[in-house]
Amino acid sequence: MGILEVKGVNKRFGGLQALGDVNLSVAENTVHAIIGPNGAGKSTLLNCLVGKLIPDTGSVMFNGQSVLGRKPFEINQMGISRVFQTPEIFGDLTVLENVMIPCFAKRDGAFRMHAIEGVQNERQIMEKALAMLDDLNMADKRNMHSASLSRGDKRRLEMAMCLVQEPQLLLLDEPTAGMARADTNNTIDLLKEIKEKRDITMCIIEHDMHVVFSLADRITVLAQGTPLVEDSPENIKGNPKVREAYLGE
Ligand code: ADP
Ligand code: MG
Repeated sequence: MGILEVKGVNKRFGGLQALGDVNLSVAENTVHAIIGPNGAGKSTLLNCLVGKLIPDTGSVMFNGQSVLGRKPFEINQMGISRVFQTPEIFGDLTVLENVMIPCFAKRDGAFRMHAIEGVQNERQIMEKALAMLDDLNMADKRNMHSASLSRGDKRRLEMAMCLVQEPQLLLLDEPTAGMARADTNNTIDLLKEIKEKRDITMCIIEHDMHVVFSLADRITVLAQGTPLVEDSPENIKGNPKVREAYLGE
């Protein structure tokens, strides 16, 4: 049993079958990549995992519990965090403040920051956020205005904001889309660093095969809303059907 088990998921948008009978099993502490051409249903599938969309039929189980019908923040509290294509940070706040916000959210169950909790709590949260920044080698930038960070550091900060919530499963939708090669390589290194340091499962949607083959333990190829193959990176590379359809050969 994987930490994430998707069974028989279907999702239609009017006359379009965006997902057709999707099965996916993601093993704990692995990086599982989902690849496929534009319009294959990758983002739709991810949205079904985080509660942004509800499948028409099928089941999505995380740690043996159904996520279906739960709100995105409830699913987040179950231990699933999502990283967006463009880093979602608060530019007007400092780096440290950005990492503190998800801690308040985690505690309260929603973005409600009340002062009543007192200084004691806030100090603990600050220490936790600082430790997280230290872990990602960003502690020296803690008082910087977040908007002034480099692109790579914005991505690093976003990862800190995710990881401080101690998720078991991290979902990444094309984390290197639109990036130059140098930024892409930095992101690969950052994700490798995260993977090596902690027990975490990652499910990554990615177009860039260099990223996929650098990180993935397992790959699912999605085509027209249906998984075509699921295999190791070595076998996916050698699969003539996949080579022809997705690797442009
Ligand atoms: P991918 O992420 O693999 O590029 P998507 O999951 O975004 O693919 O889209 C799969 C298909 O569903 C596409 O044909 C897309 O146009 C369609 N689609 C996605 N979201 C919606 C929506 N909210 N309403 C209607 N059609 C949608
Ligand atoms: Mg997409």
